[in-house]
Amino acid sequence: MDQKKRITTKKTRKLGKYEVGRTIGEGSFAKVKFARNTDTGENVAIKIMAKSTILKNKMADQIKREISIMKIVRHPNMVRLYEVLASPSKIYIVLEFVTGGELFDRIVHKGRLEESEARKYFQQLIDAIAHCHCKGVYHRDLKPENLLLDNNGNLKVSDFGLSALPEQGVELLRTTCGTPNYAAPEVLNGQGYDGSAADIWSCGVILFVIMAGFLPFSETDLPSLYRKISAAEFSCPQWFSADVKSLIQRILDPNPNTRIQIQGIRKHSWFRINYMPTRAKEEEEVNLDDVRAVFDGIEGSYVAENIERRYEGPLMMNAFEMITLSQGLNLSALFDRRQDFVKRQTRFVSRREPSVIIANIEAVATSMGFRAHTRNFKTRLEGLSSIKAGQFAVVIEVYEVAPSLFMVDVRKAAGETLEYHKFYKKLCEKLENIIWRATEGMPKPELFRTITF
Ligand code: ADP
Ligand code: MG
Repeated sequence: MDQKKRITTKKTRKLGKYEVGRTIGEGSFAKVKFARNTDTGENVAIKIMAKSTILKNKMADQIKREISIMKIVRHPNMVRLYEVLASPSKIYIVLEFVTGGELFDRIVHKGRLEESEARKYFQQLIDAIAHCHCKGVYHRDLKPENLLLDNNGNLKVSDFGLSALPEQGVELLRTTCGTPNYAAPEVLNGQGYDGSAADIWSCGVILFVIMAGFLPFSETDLPSLYRKISAAEFSCPQWFSADVKSLIQRILDPNPNTRIQIQGIRKHSWFRINYMPTRAKEEEEVNLDDVRAVFDGIEGSYVAENIERRYEGPLMMNAFEMITLSQGLNLSALFDRRQDFVKRQTRFVSRREPSVIIANIEAVATSMGFRAHTRNFKTRLEGLSSIKAGQFAVVIEVYEVAPSLFMVDVRKAAGETLEYHKFYKKLCEKLENIIWRATEGMPKPELFRTITF
């Protein structure tokens, strides 16, 4: 098989009425794939989890309850859950497909957000949380990876009700791959906790990070990290206004009983500036048979799976021209409009042969202390995170865009988001010789976009 054929090989997979496409993300327990509903033509994201993960520890009832509620609940700042499917070993959660990428991608270039922008996202986050809390659903795993953006730049919180597993203490560490930076002190202490207060704490850490560009609690060894979180020992950078500092102080209160609650946040003067509450959508009658079937283990209800392999042509288009004009690194105009792509800041273009690209990536990664495994133009790098004993992993995939033009997509598979963005920067510096950038004297991408798109 020649190289060209191999790189454009694509596996199509049918899952009931869904045609499943490429992987768009991976988390500690799940893979998220792009899919299309063949009945309606609608794009969705399917989260695939092992049944053993979700059904263990007798948590099935709670998850079942929360998934049922999530199917009913609708809020503009929450990723919608359409339905759940099961096979003998897996659970598939069909979600609204969100294309704007992760909120934290917004801080890759600028390092941090302006106060007014941070406030807008924080208001949307609190609205979503408030809505779920009043329905009795808690998030329990609020972190940057679960904050997505839609096409209009509005926040969409994902994974509500999916981490009903109240992992605490040592168990939490194991399951979060060593990055418990967003967890509340009472969660780390493992003494049982109130989901509402714990979610609010995580929102405080998120607000701090988007405005500071770094974590409030970050230590390279776990005992120190635990100590800092438990004592809420942090300091705000000098660019924080007095108003936002006072709010963050009230949220990052180590005592869940005196910590500010949602009503308090909504009354706070910093929060109230330009606040336009988002209204929850009308709830419709929904059918919960799918949830029952999955969680009550009704075998006859397994979804039909069907895998076929086929060759596809190169990914498309007059891309070459567009990229030449729009500069090598700004790919949003090109890829983010493809229906199966989400916006991502961590992509680059190369004109080298795929085998050369992969060899360079492997060499650089090894020099940075990572282990590399490559299969089908997909490389997985694994190493230790800056928190000792924590795991850090990325997946790098090469796509052919046009003859002799390749896009390299980099995504995080495990570890902490800010650390991952630092890693990406370093990787790009070291791969300078294979990354293709437009020649100098080209129009600025912003300028170009306003003229052309
Ligand atoms: P995590 O536990 O890190 O949240 P997930 O399995 O929930 O992992 O998701 C992995 C990644 O997939 C996310 O960080 C995000 O980039 C992407 N993703 C998840 N859900 C969606 C969705 N509904 N639409 C688009 N991308 C998604
Ligand atoms: Mg998630």
